[in-house]
Amino acid sequence: MELAVVGAGYVGLVTSVCLSEIGHHVTCIELDKSKVDKLKKGISPIYEPGLTELMMKNVNLGRLSFTTNYLEGFKNKDVIYIAVGTPENEDGSANLSYVDDVAKIIAKNVKRDAIVVTKSTVPVGTNNRIQTIINNHKPSYISIEVVSNPEFLREGSAIYDSFHGDRIVIGANSEKAAKLIEEINKPFNIPIYITGIRSAEMIKYASNAFLATKISFINEIANICERVDADVEQVAYGMGLDHRIGSHFLNAGIGYGGSCFPKDTKALIQIAGNVAYDFELLQGVVNVNKKQQRILLDKLYDRFGNLKGKKIALLGLAFKPNTDDMREAPSISISSELVKAGAIVYAYDPIAIDNAKQILDSSIHFVYNIEQAIGGADAALILTEWDEIKNMDFNLINTMKYPLLIDGRNCIKLKDIKPYQIEYHSIGRSSVK
Ligand code: NAD
Repeated sequence: MELAVVGAGYVGLVTSVCLSEIGHHVTCIELDKSKVDKLKKGISPIYEPGLTELMMKNVNLGRLSFTTNYLEGFKNKDVIYIAVGTPENEDGSANLSYVDDVAKIIAKNVKRDAIVVTKSTVPVGTNNRIQTIINNHKPSYISIEVVSNPEFLREGSAIYDSFHGDRIVIGANSEKAAKLIEEINKPFNIPIYITGIRSAEMIKYASNAFLATKISFINEIANICERVDADVEQVAYGMGLDHRIGSHFLNAGIGYGGSCFPKDTKALIQIAGNVAYDFELLQGVVNVNKKQQRILLDKLYDRFGNLKGKKIALLGLAFKPNTDDMREAPSISISSELVKAGAIVYAYDPIAIDNAKQILDSSIHFVYNIEQAIGGADAALILTEWDEIKNMDFNLINTMKYPLLIDGRNCIKLKDIKPYQIEYHSIGRSSVK
C-alpha cells in the first residue's frame, strides 16, 4: 500500500522502516531539514539497534524515501500516519500543538480520500479533535477518516518489538477503516485488537501507567527490603512466579525515565483530573519515582556526609541501555544534584554522550571510556545497565581513590563482585564491603 508517515523521530522512523520492510511504499515526511539530509545520506538521526541496516535495505529497494515536502510526501498516499511528539506541558498535560499542526497540514495538502492514523500517544478525545480539525480545513470533495493506532515499541528494541509485539491496537469509528489498517499490519503477524477510538487511546495510557506502577511498586518493596534485610531480587523472582503477577518490570532501581512513562503518567493524571477524578494511585507512582531518583545521592551522603570536591563517576547516562535518548533520564537530576553539592562529576555513556553534552551541566567532564571516568574517583554510580558497564573489568576499580561502586540498576550479581576488594551497594539488596 502507499503510505506516508509524518515525523522521523523514534516512532516515525521505526514505523516507516518497518512498514516498508513488510512491503509497503512509505514516504517519511520530517520538518527538520537536517534530519532529512542525514536520512538521505543513509545516516539515522537516532541510535536504535538494527535500524540503519533495515532502513538502507528498503531505501535501496525503492520502498522508503524521506522528504520535507508535504505535497510530495502525501501524493497518491492511501494512509497517512501521524508520529510527531506529544511532550509534556508545564502542568503535566500533553502538548498537542504538533499533532494539531499536522492535522491542518494534512487537510491542506492531501488531494484525495485517505485514512489518517494516529501513532502519537494522545489523550482520550484527541482523535476526534484531529478529525474535527481536518474536517474544518480539508476541501469538501475529499473524505478523510481518522483511526487510532497507538504505538507500544520500546526504545532500544524498537525494531524487534515492531515484528514481535504482543498486540496491535486499532481504534476506529468504521469497520471499513479498521479493516484497512488491519490489512496493512497483517504481515507483522501480531495479534490485532480492534476497539473504539477512545478505548484505543486509553489502552495506551493505561498500559504505560500500569508498567510505571509495577516499577514504583517494586522500588518501594526494595526500599523496605533494605531496612528488613531481605533481598528484592529474590522477592521479585518469587512474586513473578505467580502468573497473575508476572516476572516482567519487577527490577528495582533508580526509577523510570525516558520519553514516555514520565509524561504519560502525568498526562493520565490530567486526563482523570479533567473529568474530576483524582487518580491517587498514579500520583503515588509519580511521587515514588521522583523520590527513587534521589536514592543514590542519599547513599553517597550516608557514606561521605559532604560531597564537595568528591570526584564522582557516572556510568551510563541514557534513560536505558541501547538508546541514545536522554529524555527524562535519571542521570539528569542525579548529575544536577551532584554538581549543586560541589562534586566533580565525570560522566560516561557508550552511545548517548553527544546528546548528554547538550542537556547536562557544562561543568561535567564527559569522557570516552569507563577507565577515564573512574580513575581517581571517590565513588562510581551505575545509572544505565549497558552491557559494557555490567560486564566491566572489576580490577579497574583499583584505579579509584576509593573502591566504592553504587549500582542504581542492580545489574551486577552479588556473587560476581564479592571476590573483589570493592564496597558495593545496590537497591534493595545487601551491601558488599
Ligand atoms: P520524537 O520527538 O523523537 O519525534 C517527533 C518527530 O516529529 C521529530 O523529528 C519532529 O521534528 C517531527 N515533527 C514535528 N512536527 C512535525 C511536522 N509538522 N511535520 C513533520 N515532522 C514533524 O518523538 P517520538 O519519541 O518518536 O514520539 C512520537 C510519539 O510517539 C509521541 O506521542 C510519543 O509519546 C509516542 N511514543 C513514543 C515512544 C518512544 O519510545 N519514543 C513509544 C511509543 C509511543
